[in-house]
Amino acid sequence: MRVIDHHIVGTGGAGGRSSDVFDPNTGKVQARVTLGTQADLDRAVAAAQAAQPGWAATNPQRRARVMFAFKALVEANMDELAHLLSSEHGKVIADAKGDIQRGLEVVEFACGIPHVLKGEYTQGAGPGIDVYSTRQPIGIGAGITPFNFPAMIPLWMGAVATACGNAFILKPSERDPSVPVRLAELMREAGMPEGIFQVVNGDKEMVDAILDHPAIGAISFVGSSDIAHYVYNRGVAAGKRVQAMGGAKNHGIVMPDADLDQVVADLSGAAFGSAGERCMALPVVVPVGEKTAVALREKLLPAIEALRVGVSTDAEAHYGPVINAAHKARVEQWIQTGVDEGAELVVDGRGFKLQGHEDGFFVGPSLFDHVTPDMQSYKEEIFGPVLQIVRAKDFDEAVRLPSQHQYGNGVAIFTRNGHAAREFAARVNVGMVGINVPIPVPVAYHTFGGWKRSAFGDTNQHGMEGVKFWTKVKTITQRWPDGSADLPRGSEDGGPSRIQDAFVIPTMG
Ligand code: NAD
Repeated sequence: MRVIDHHIVGTGGAGGRSSDVFDPNTGKVQARVTLGTQADLDRAVAAAQAAQPGWAATNPQRRARVMFAFKALVEANMDELAHLLSSEHGKVIADAKGDIQRGLEVVEFACGIPHVLKGEYTQGAGPGIDVYSTRQPIGIGAGITPFNFPAMIPLWMGAVATACGNAFILKPSERDPSVPVRLAELMREAGMPEGIFQVVNGDKEMVDAILDHPAIGAISFVGSSDIAHYVYNRGVAAGKRVQAMGGAKNHGIVMPDADLDQVVADLSGAAFGSAGERCMALPVVVPVGEKTAVALREKLLPAIEALRVGVSTDAEAHYGPVINAAHKARVEQWIQTGVDEGAELVVDGRGFKLQGHEDGFFVGPSLFDHVTPDMQSYKEEIFGPVLQIVRAKDFDEAVRLPSQHQYGNGVAIFTRNGHAAREFAARVNVGMVGINVPIPVPVAYHTFGGWKRSAFGDTNQHGMEGVKFWTKVKTITQRWPDGSADLPRGSEDGGPSRIQDAFVIPTMG
């Protein structure tokens, strides 16, 4: 059986605990991943400590060159990486390539790191005084990532962290760890010094070791909200800088004037793509007014029936299996909860079997209507191919629904009315807004982050927010007196004496 090990300097840490990695298409175990310990982390940290000062002292242009080379290598290996990703995650190949591509766009941003690290300068902030600020790396940072984007999310963090001069230790999801390890290997091949981009595999034991390790200064986490909150609290209590992104329940508001054919096409992909296992999926649709609700439901039904669920290598499939058997059972349980709560189950995706792949973790598409905000199945994230219709009577109610939900990751509005769209974007209590864009994932040079229980901490992923997270600002106030004019000043010319100067907070203006 293939063993997926850490990518730590000079070791193979195999032995001890390990965990199954499945092929979700077949339901069979295809590899085992090593679950690391404190001792494995200590080795990674020691290697990071040895390498980081030299890397930080490497000029930013040379650091950027590693990013350029890495980007070329990932592109050259795109097919291999996409197949590997798809075989452990279950998303279709085109989607797996999208996962890698969105990560590469952050690498492209990191190629410009010399420009964004330039800092600020004020000449003559006071008499003979200049003030400048620089951004210096934190030292050693860690990333803890979820299963659903095993390429993109490690690169959100790792590309920016390392380009800024940090050493980065990644703890990927134990459910699909092969691509993160491959990315670390390709980083090395691209010229990244040993010890700067490492991978430790593991579960809670490794996460806790990271949270408590005194040499790790910053932690970026993405995963479910309860774990995000836990990571945030424990990391901050240990004196670290922490950003922790959590779950989501994104709403798509459909105004009466929306182009319904376009909305249905957008919703099919946004609700069911990647089997709904995206934090920016649109699992809730909110038609405004009864007429819109009736027309939308009528058009949604044939679109859902036309969805093709297949193995992840099926080029015709819209989506593949979910990640594992436990998750399949959880999604099906949520569907039952919806039924028990009184929502109308219009399409039931439970019990779906794909011929020839009866043990695969497939869930058919499901559609609920007449879902209401008091239902548990509305309040919680299902993270599966389940779309819920929540009918709103007017625009105000449509703004209120996502605004009052515990999650606030993304939201979309579909309309032809610019004023309504503008008003919605201004008022809604959610971090990322799409206007006729169903999945408003910001481009790499903007930043990604939700509100409320979708993110703990105060900086977003990638873009300038990422650079802020992975660096500390140092502000230098300097004065270079003219050595040739070493004359007493102060009392002689009527001003304060040097001794008096030293006892007051200087004002420069
Ligand atoms: P998860 O919370 O189960 O796991 C995330 C990471 O935490 C993994 O590395 C895992 O090993 C670790 N972990 C799991 N249980 C832990 C515990 N008890 N203590 C310490 N660490 C633990 O999440 P997942 O199922 O891998 O990913 C899906 C979730 O991630 C969804 O909720 C989804 O919305 C969310 N997500 C959010 C974003 C975002 O940017 N907001 C992006 C992608 C995914």
